[in-house]
Amino acid sequence: MAIYLDHAATTPLRPEALEAMLPYLTERFGNPSSPHRFGRAARAGLDEARERLAARLNAEPRELVFTSGGTEANNLAVKGAAWVGKARGNQILTSPVEHHSVGHSLAYLEKFGFEVVALGVDRYGRVDPDEVEARLGDRTILVSIMLANNEVGTIEPIAEIARRVRTRRGVLFHVDAVAAAPHLPLDVQALDVDLLTLSAHKFEGPKGAGLLYIRRGVHILAQQQGGTQERYRRAGTEDVAAVVGMAVAYDLACEERATVSGRLRRAADRLLRTLRAEPGVEVTGHPKERLPGLVSVVVPGVDGAELVMALDLAGIAVSTGSACTTGSTEPSHVLTAMGYPADEARGALRISLGRATTEAELETAAAEIRAVIARFRAAAESEPALAQDGVLGR
Ligand code: PMP
Repeated sequence: MAIYLDHAATTPLRPEALEAMLPYLTERFGNPSSPHRFGRAARAGLDEARERLAARLNAEPRELVFTSGGTEANNLAVKGAAWVGKARGNQILTSPVEHHSVGHSLAYLEKFGFEVVALGVDRYGRVDPDEVEARLGDRTILVSIMLANNEVGTIEPIAEIARRVRTRRGVLFHVDAVAAAPHLPLDVQALDVDLLTLSAHKFEGPKGAGLLYIRRGVHILAQQQGGTQERYRRAGTEDVAAVVGMAVAYDLACEERATVSGRLRRAADRLLRTLRAEPGVEVTGHPKERLPGLVSVVVPGVDGAELVMALDLAGIAVSTGSACTTGSTEPSHVLTAMGYPADEARGALRISLGRATTEAELETAAAEIRAVIARFRAAAESEPALAQDGVLGR
């Protein structure tokens, strides 16, 4: 029996979402842009989902653009805002701990003459709002900072940052809320953002579904040309079933958040205390301002990818950090930006709990994780080079 503790990578589709999706994969298959009854049935599902999601986010339905996920929404936000802003300026402020769908989109924009300023972060991965204000200039057109980090769980001081961004007229503020969405209430008015990204598969919705909130009056350049869907902001026939599943999953996540988050936080805190007591283990991310249910550590001198494999053999599914960088031998850009040297950053381990995680699973997992870490550390101490190659320690 395997224990799944990688909910920050993805979550299982919840049964209520699947059930709501099924009719749109079968009899309600129409194209939502078709005027006939088949199209209208699909359109009704899409419209209802849009209204439910907008209500939850304190947005207007027309302010939501459905996308194929967080990656597409982040690309659309950052590139779409940059190209429209080019007439006014070329500078974009961001953090060095963003997901690659933001970071690599910005690197792409640099090739076209945009200047990307990476702000500093502290040991916990937090951006300093004062630095945001100090760096805002006449040429700044966009600030993009995530709400919570997907690798270490640190929550950024977004309200404070928004306040500083608002001191300059015409600067757009984008927030990647993908990692935060399952755990933190999101209100686009209270957050005071112009653009906000969500991805359904992180809150027990389907994969391949996400959205970008675009504040009314904010103009961004579509990144995909074709039909008139999504008010010309994202061409292509909408995945109605996926959007319906996303709306149901998000509704339920919001309703259950208070109870689930409290339970996850207590469970994660227990696991954190256990791991912190393990010699050679350092907890990463902010001690308080962090997502509930996400435990991240480094074990210096040990290869995190090897730890993940050894734990998989023991039936425990965890990760080194982001699933999106699997296969890369580079240490996490998040941990290196936080000041961890490469050899420490390579020893990263992320354990992320979900709604269905049980006490018994966590107890088993904690014992296995401790045992595997102790074995790897012992191997690293006796044969450092071999342990690094993963020859020992399993
Ligand atoms: N942003 C963050 C913070 C994420 O964690 C992820 C998913 N790893 C994404 C964006 C990309 O979302 P998706 O998987 O839906 O493309």
